[in-house]
Amino acid sequence: MKPMQNKIDTIKNTFIADLVAAATLEALEAIRIKYLGKSKGETTLLLKELQSLSLDDKKHYGPLLNQLKHYQESELENKYKILNSEIKNETDLTIPGTPRPVGHLHPTSVVIREMNEFFRYHGFSIGEGPEIENADYNFRRLNLPEGHPATDLQDTLFIKEPDILLRTHTSSVETRILSAYHDKLPLRVVVPGKCYRNETGNATNNSFFYQYQGFVVDKGITIQHLKDVLTKFHQFLFGKDVVLRFRYKYYPEVSPGMGVDMQCQFCKGVGCGVCKYRGYIEVLGSGMIHYNTLLACGIDPDIYTGFAWGMGLDRLVMSKFGITDIRKLYSGDIVYL
Ligand SMILES: [Zn+2]
Repeated sequence: MKPMQNKIDTIKNTFIADLVAAATLEALEAIRIKYLGKSKGETTLLLKELQSLSLDDKKHYGPLLNQLKHYQESELENKYKILNSEIKNETDLTIPGTPRPVGHLHPTSVVIREMNEFFRYHGFSIGEGPEIENADYNFRRLNLPEGHPATDLQDTLFIKEPDILLRTHTSSVETRILSAYHDKLPLRVVVPGKCYRNETGNATNNSFFYQYQGFVVDKGITIQHLKDVLTKFHQFLFGKDVVLRFRYKYYPEVSPGMGVDMQCQFCKGVGCGVCKYRGYIEVLGSGMIHYNTLLACGIDPDIYTGFAWGMGLDRLVMSKFGITDIRKLYSGDIVYL
């Protein structure tokens, strides 16, 4: 019984040693013949020897010998592949390697990172929140009670009516953070994120899009702070000579609300096709956080005030990268991305 096991072990050891030493395809072929040759191969002979063993020994050694044979076959094949590719490489070292395609960041990610860097430098934290939101954070705490006419401004996509929905703006993260950290003021936070609305897709609108939200809550915050932050930020994005126009605009979650327009970069305010002959392009909505919103988030509005703004990111990304159709940003078309 023992001799057979010894023979298997010996063959295995010498085979490995032979294989490691083999440096040419010829040497490899010699090894194949030495072990697996049809008439005199060492493994082949052992397999033949199996016939003369007792039934019990056959049952025991049969599978072991087959395993050995398959092991040798696959090791020989692996080594063949290695030697073959080495030989090919040796023939012409000047053949250039196959270039690997290198990925890069999505245009939206590039812009978000740039903006985050600006705000981080100015002491803001980067916040995030869930895309599936409840009506409380998305509407109620933003001074939009149930049935408020302003909720009609937003065609909401509901997961489960009337409470579970896809957030319609990043303001939902503002109320979440204000509620969670109402006792850790002051707060300065920006929130880049995806939002959803029930819209038919075309070149400039999509059912999902990116917003960049920001808010500050502290003692003594005024609308002048808001104007200053927005001016510095637009100078950072578009250059020192950027011209902004601030005007009153109604948004339910802020009071007073402020719309911000940027002078058209193409016509410098004269009027052209890009700005639809208005001279200015609306870039964001903002304002002082509403008394009721602060109250709903557990903050005393008689002590603290704050401002917030929200801007669409997609049009910014499109103008920066010369992309003409918003859907390209979400299509996975790598020619664009
Ligand atoms: Zn223009």
